Amino acid sequence: MEFSFREILINGIDDMVFVVKVEDQNFRYEFLNKSAMQCLRLNKDILGLTFRDVLPKEEAEFLYKKYQEVLIKREILTYEDSYRKKENVGEMNYSQVKLTPIFDGSGSCIRIVSVVRDITKEKAALSYVKEMVERIAESDERYQSLFTHNPDAILTFDKKGFITNGNEAVKSITGFEIIELIGKSFIDIIFEDINLLQQTINEALKGSTSSGEFLLKDKKGNILTINLKVIPLILENEVIGLFGIFKDITEATKNIEKLEESEKRFRIIAENAHDLITLVNKNGEITYVSPSYKNILGYHHKEYIGKHFIHNVHSDDLGRYMEIVEKSIQSDEPFTIEFRQKNANDEMLWCESIGKPVFNQKNKFQHLVVLTRDITLRKEYESKLKHFAYHDSLTGLPNRLLFKERFEIAKEQFLKNNNGLALMILDIDHFKRINDTYGHDIGDLVIKEFGLRIKESIGDHGTVARLGGDEFVILLSSIQNVENALEIAERIKSKVHKPWEVNGESLNVTTSIGIAMAPYSEGLTKSELMKKADIALYQAKDSGRDSYKLYEV
Ligand code: GH3
Ligand code: MG
Repeated sequence: MEFSFREILINGIDDMVFVVKVEDQNFRYEFLNKSAMQCLRLNKDILGLTFRDVLPKEEAEFLYKKYQEVLIKREILTYEDSYRKKENVGEMNYSQVKLTPIFDGSGSCIRIVSVVRDITKEKAALSYVKEMVERIAESDERYQSLFTHNPDAILTFDKKGFITNGNEAVKSITGFEIIELIGKSFIDIIFEDINLLQQTINEALKGSTSSGEFLLKDKKGNILTINLKVIPLILENEVIGLFGIFKDITEATKNIEKLEESEKRFRIIAENAHDLITLVNKNGEITYVSPSYKNILGYHHKEYIGKHFIHNVHSDDLGRYMEIVEKSIQSDEPFTIEFRQKNANDEMLWCESIGKPVFNQKNKFQHLVVLTRDITLRKEYESKLKHFAYHDSLTGLPNRLLFKERFEIAKEQFLKNNNGLALMILDIDHFKRINDTYGHDIGDLVIKEFGLRIKESIGDHGTVARLGGDEFVILLSSIQNVENALEIAERIKSKVHKPWEVNGESLNVTTSIGIAMAPYSEGLTKSELMKKADIALYQAKDSGRDSYKLYEV
């Protein structure tokens, strides 16, 4: 009953209370309050027992040492301990233990009172706070790092728009130390466009992010193009400042400008070019044609967009065109082609295209750039030149050159088919007299008329050519035998005998003809046959003219 009053007192508190009696250097449980019994699942049976009797060895030793310490030091000892409520399971509980020695009248310690306070909750709260503090510190550090090492320049502004801080990139972009910028406003470093900047800042002050491109003057006075984003710094629904994030886009802008410039240059050339400029995509569809299409072909350039690039090419030239373009793409070589296409008036024009395939960086064909010009006039000129080269200008009849080519073709034919092949040389008799009597012009007309008459006489049996002066040659390729040749000679003779009326003058014109039949021989040559015909011609002249002679071996 000695502790009845204390018992009432200490059973009413949550702390565990143990009273331990000190006896012969040993400690025996003398009292436990309710809380202690409940928490440690002990009962009054342990009263009178030592720590070693009740607790596991390690725990008993630990307690023994603590109590011993109080006994020796004779003062209050406080320490923290941890335990699990249910034999090694459950959450860890933390406790604060206070050991108080009680002395008797002679001053020797006879009891030790242990009050154990559960501080698990406090511990948890503390560790939570500690963890939070650590976490905040860490995230602060992270944000700090994000801010400091961000490759974009970041400036912080107060509500009035004055710079309060900046990161490393601000210095590397602008050249200004942050300290030089603090207290300044953005307007102090932005070069242009101030109105837009003010607008951007105002937007941010109202709570929304806004951005734009501006010119910034760096410390050295260089003008940089920057892309600036202004972000409101909002705390509890109120804008308390601004973030200005910017990057230097001077180089990128320059590249775009360069690209735009070259694009512009291309446009200027294309829009003003006299030639037709066509861009064709990889599917063969036209994506651009120059306005010159209107002048040259009569179609509006917009009519071409989306059409296949050869849609207007003459059907006879289509296959060749496709083939050349395909080859050009395969070999990455430019191509040139002459082809025909119709204009809006349905007239066929000769055109020349020069094209170049363009490939991307991965060597994939991207598009075709084609320059086309109207070469109709050139073609006409060329064909005239060709005609001049192969024809006699006075009579319009084939000349020596064309005659030579025709002979070679006829010879091939002759050797293949073994039909007849004859060569006749004709020379107007006493032509000099005609010139002398009636003049050169009448002489010319006689040559012309003579050519016409012999051409009519042979029909489609062969080719008539003028060798020069009053001398003509006939190649008879479509005859069977010598009789056919002689018949034709006879026909020429009588045709020439017909009356001549030239410029009101009645003339007498006759001709002598030398004929040579081609021998069937691989070694047959034109000059050889000409020589023979010439010999026959002289014989005809010698025999009194106005006659024909056949060369005979
Ligand atoms: P022959 O019966 O022997 O043939 O006598 P010819 O007077 O016809 O003599 P030849 O054939 O040798 O002379 C041809 C003349 O034709 C010589 C030249 O003055 C003339 N002549 C040559 N070319 C032309 C020409 O283009 N126009 C004219 N009017 N005369 C030409
Ligand atoms: Mg003559």
